[in-house]
Amino acid sequence: MSTHTSSAGGAEGTLFIVAAPSGAGKSTLVNALLEREPSISLSISHTTRPPRPGEQYGRHYYFVERVEFEREVGEGIFLEHAEVHGNFYGTSRKTVQDLLQQGRDVLLEIDWQGAAQIRKAKPDVVSVFILPPSRAELERRLRGRGSDSAEVIERRLRNSRGEIAHAHEFDYIIVNDLFEDALDSLQAIVRAVRQRSALQCQRHESLIHELLTET
Ligand code: GDP
Ligand code: ADP
Ligand code: 5GP
Repeated sequence: MSTHTSSAGGAEGTLFIVAAPSGAGKSTLVNALLEREPSISLSISHTTRPPRPGEQYGRHYYFVERVEFEREVGEGIFLEHAEVHGNFYGTSRKTVQDLLQQGRDVLLEIDWQGAAQIRKAKPDVVSVFILPPSRAELERRLRGRGSDSAEVIERRLRNSRGEIAHAHEFDYIIVNDLFEDALDSLQAIVRAVRQRSALQCQRHESLIHELLTET
């Protein structure tokens, strides 16, 4: 039997976090990673931020009103939640737990505050922080994306220092200068984590048993 899926051997999936200051290229990198590694599930967050042109409910985010978000916080549905750039964002606990239990690897695109909450609840999470190659390039990308008003862009640029100050808390840091190089690095992290011996011993228990059996 092929053992290439992460559910082989009944092992739980791995939880990954990718964080970055707005405009560093996080979503572009994550989307390209998911094309290369389609077995990873992307967690769709709930947010009170209004949708950008082209963003779809349930594909990019679950866009909700503030009262609804607050009700959901009260009901404890979030694994983590945080206020980022004046909007609220949260990760559904049940969706993530169910996928991990099915053996799927799950990726969260969340900010550093959410990452800190997840580390407490799930210390085996693997976290990656994306840096832009310079401040000028971060600004250029944010403006070039053309998705936010000048005011929102200013706010995100102002907040970027506060986010970058937490980069050292992450397991890995990638500078997103040449896109393909950054993507290769992100994929290399995912692949290395999947080969960890603790996981592999669970997945390939019968293979290892067979190889150890004297004939
Ligand atoms: P962009 O990622 O900068 O393009 O902008 P977004 O508006 O999509 O996201 C704003 C911030 O919220 C980013 O730092 C995200 O990583 C963060 N974020 C998105 N979803 C979540 C979530 O579910 N929980 C937390 N804590 N942060 C989130
Ligand atoms: P984030 O999710 O971190 O806010 P995005 O993925 O939306 O950032 O990227 C911001 C902008 O920068 C997008 O227009 C994207 O196409 C561009 N971009 C991403 N990575 C690179 C790169 N390595 N070189 C040049 N432009 C990039
Ligand atoms: P944007 O509004 O540009 O999509 O995202 C802004 C920031 O919010 C990004 O840094 C993004 O990672 C973060 N973010 C998005 N979803 C979540 C979430 O569910 N939880 C947390 N903590 N941050 C999130």
